[in-house]
Parts: sequence; C-alpha cells; structure tokens
Amino acid sequence: MNSTRNRCWAAGVSPCSGPITEEHYASYGLFQEATVRIETGPLAKNGPIELPIKRLVTNCLCEGHNGVLSELDQAGIDFQNALRRAWELHNVRSPLAGHRKWKPVRLTVDGPRLERWLLKFAFSAAPVFRQQLNDWKPPAESAALALGTRAFGEGLGLYAAGQPGDELTNEEQISFTYGTRLGSDHPVAFTVALRGGYRLIATWNLLQHPEDSLVFGTGAARPLSTLIRHPNRFEFKAGSRDLGLSVDFDWSGKWSAAMYPQVAALRARYPAPPR
Ligand SMILES: [Zn+2]
Repeated sequence: MNSTRNRCWAAGVSPCSGPITEEHYASYGLFQEATVRIETGPLAKNGPIELPIKRLVTNCLCEGHNGVLSELDQAGIDFQNALRRAWELHNVRSPLAGHRKWKPVRLTVDGPRLERWLLKFAFSAAPVFRQQLNDWKPPAESAALALGTRAFGEGLGLYAAGQPGDELTNEEQISFTYGTRLGSDHPVAFTVALRGGYRLIATWNLLQHPEDSLVFGTGAARPLSTLIRHPNRFEFKAGSRDLGLSVDFDWSGKWSAAMYPQVAALRARYPAPPR
C-alpha cells in the first residue's frame, strides 16, 4: 500500500490522485484575522497560544480529494457570515424591539453542503487529535458521506442543539470537539459552535434509539431526542420579541448563490484575511 493511500482519509472511497496536500481543517475563510488564539486542545497543551491560521493544517488528503471537497468550505463560511450579519442586525434591532415592525431578513444557507462540511472538518482535524482519538480514521462508509457519494440516511447528518440562547457573544469564537456514544470511546459525531452558541452537531454513525446519547468531551450526555435533525431556522429574538431575523437552512440540495444573493453578498462584506 503506498503512502498516499495510507494518509488520505478518502482513499477507501475512490482512487487518490496527486501528492498529499495541506488541508485547512478549519476553513480559512471562517476567520477575520490572520492569527487565532487557541485556548484548549492538543495545540494548547502548555496553555493558550496564538497561531497563524495558515498553520491550522493537516496532511490528510491527496490533491484530487482535496480538490473535490474544497467546494464545501464555502458552505461553512456562508453559515459563519450569516451568523455575523444576523448578529449585527440583532444588535441594531433589539434595543428598538416592540417599537418597530421590521422587514424580515432571512439568511438562507446550504444545508446539505454544511452537513458534509462538518464531516470534512471532523475527518481532516483528526490527526491533530490523534492521541484523544486513539489514531482513529474515518471508515470508508463515513468518508463517503463527506464526499457525497453516499446519502445521509435516517438519523445521520446535521442536528442543531436547541435554539441559540443567552450565551451568544460579540466575539469571533469557534470551538469544536468530537462526540462519542455514551459508554463508548469511538468518535461518532463532531460539534462546532460559533460565537459561543449556534451549536451544530453532525453524526456519521447511526444512533439506533432516541434514548441514545452523545457525549462531547467532559460535557453532559445529550440524548438524541433533545436535538433537532435538519433544522429549518435559527431565530434571533430580543427575549421573546420577534425581530424578523433568522438564519434559515435550505435542505433541497438546490441552494445557489443566484437563489440567495443576500447570503452570497456577505462574502465581500466579510473577506478572509490575506493569505
Ligand atoms: Zn485521496
């Protein structure tokens, strides 16, 4: 077996091509600054550190598979941008809540690509978490979900952990961690939280029973029944007051920039730092 096959996590799905390439597991465009402060995890073993974003890479995909998967980054970045914009508008609208009727702003993101992006993120970051994950690599049938050659069946894919609550912050903040099924140490899920809230969870392994629970790090077990699969809307409210403001998910598989120009326009509003 050659080394490309050993090192590319998509090798079991389709033939590799080209050399192993650097993959930004946390998509470059998620960030607004060229440097990031890392608080916890394997890169911050000796305390918080600052690192250039361009160092957040692993050598985990061949050139061919990296190319095929690169379109997913935009879905993650669009979601991040939609949250940024919704949060800005929330800060404008919430002090005036109840005094005005707002024109609804619905920022719609690409559900199926976002779902695959979370898996790509999880699988590409795995070498960094090698110790914690006991050298785990995604099995071919899980890698196929990220590549889009296998459909997410019942129970698999993206969930939202409740509605965004009071824990939101103005800070650009990203946290992510792996999840296991309660009572096992085998990773079956990944969660990403942006701005302290908006927690997305993706699972690539079927949880058979609604009473099955996912455990993330040292957090409490989350029964599957408390999560919402394929959410339609994250609403931004002022307390209980409607601000006509939400990030919506299009699950049709037909999302396009032409269909949702409001979201596509945010790409220029929040450019990634220069490389
Ligand atoms: Zn490959």
